[in-house]
Amino acid sequence: MKIAFLTLGCKLNYAETSTYERGFKAAGLEAVPWNEKADIYLVNTCSVTAVSDRKSRNLVRRVHRMNPGALVVVTGCSAELRRREIEKIEGVTRVFGAEEKTLVVPETLKVAGIGGAAHSDTARSAAGIAGGGASASGGGVFAAYSTGERTRSFLRVQDGCDNFCAYCTVPYARGRSRNVPIAECVENARKIAAEGVKEIVLTGVNTGDFGRTTGESFLDLLKALNEVPGIERYRISSIEPNLLGEDIIDWIASGTKFQPHFHIPLQTGSDELLYRMGRKYDTALFAGKLEYIRSRMETPGSPKVFFGIDLMVGLPGETEELFMESCGFLERIRPAFIHVFPYSRRPGTPAASMSGQVPEAEKHRRVAVVEALCARLHTEFLEANHGVREKVLFESTDRNGLMAGYTGNYIRVSRAFDPSLVGRLTEVVL
Ligand code: SF4
Repeated sequence: MKIAFLTLGCKLNYAETSTYERGFKAAGLEAVPWNEKADIYLVNTCSVTAVSDRKSRNLVRRVHRMNPGALVVVTGCSAELRRREIEKIEGVTRVFGAEEKTLVVPETLKVAGIGGAAHSDTARSAAGIAGGGASASGGGVFAAYSTGERTRSFLRVQDGCDNFCAYCTVPYARGRSRNVPIAECVENARKIAAEGVKEIVLTGVNTGDFGRTTGESFLDLLKALNEVPGIERYRISSIEPNLLGEDIIDWIASGTKFQPHFHIPLQTGSDELLYRMGRKYDTALFAGKLEYIRSRMETPGSPKVFFGIDLMVGLPGETEELFMESCGFLERIRPAFIHVFPYSRRPGTPAASMSGQVPEAEKHRRVAVVEALCARLHTEFLEANHGVREKVLFESTDRNGLMAGYTGNYIRVSRAFDPSLVGRLTEVVL
């Protein structure tokens, strides 16, 4: 029996799909590309914007049209938030919401008529999905991780969020904050190392909120992972500024496998809008955090730390003046990269009914302004690192005779393809 996977959205979804794939393969299914004929299609959906919801539903329709006789299983954020709409789409066999993710593999096998309970258990344990229900392993979160890329893997350590920011559907789509126990995270890091992968990116919805389920601390997780033999580098995919404590920064700066690369969501550089969003910090805290990290990890005049930030433009009430204030803040803190996206009105969130909705065309103009600013700041960061010696972990893809990899501080380097360098930390002069 053949199964195909389609994934939309964030790294968490990709890590989950990878984990499901391992489970289905262990049950004897063959994974095929999604545009080939399969007996089962698993669509892992996204709901971050209205466009993602639409894309998710279109994909579900498309696979059914491609192969009307196949089973179509749907999971992910859109499946949770738009369950009724998805269930009504012709050809949908089963929908799994946020609390049912540990059931995706065993229940799909059951519907497909493959094996019995013992078979499902084998598949689940091969995938690293403990238990059999929503309350399994850390309160319904399993330690998903991605494989396939020989150099870097994404390891999920946390899921869900309790923050309920005014614009965000994630707490509704992925549920309350919960974490994978440290011991399970370490076990999975060891499995990843056994596959020859050298770098792990820790992912979660609100990664720094680690410990809600088990009472463990994020710093203890970092320390435990740091000891896993074979893994040479770690990155934290994203961490809320208020949860990035000085103890964590001091420890990372003391010479660990965690790289000088921080992705910190800012969302806006205006205190008035941060308050409107319900974020848990102000610009002073944010700027102070970057300053502290720089003081611990950089020498004057050499910007070693790569700061990536998320920025939303066009929140209701973002006047031109507040937008310019936000841009002014970005100029002051000088991140190396800005991931900018327009506010998307999500039904059921407080921001959807706020006054001062910004026209779409204006949001897109603001995105373009921030993109231009990002291009300038990114170039400045690269130029400041010109001539510096760094170690690059080269990846396996051969693109027109070139290979690429990243430095510890996330500078992308490319060179002529050399298979002997794949997966090896190689010193280069930038
Ligand atoms: S911190 Fe805010 S924006 Fe981030 S997932 Fe939680 S609610 Fe959404």
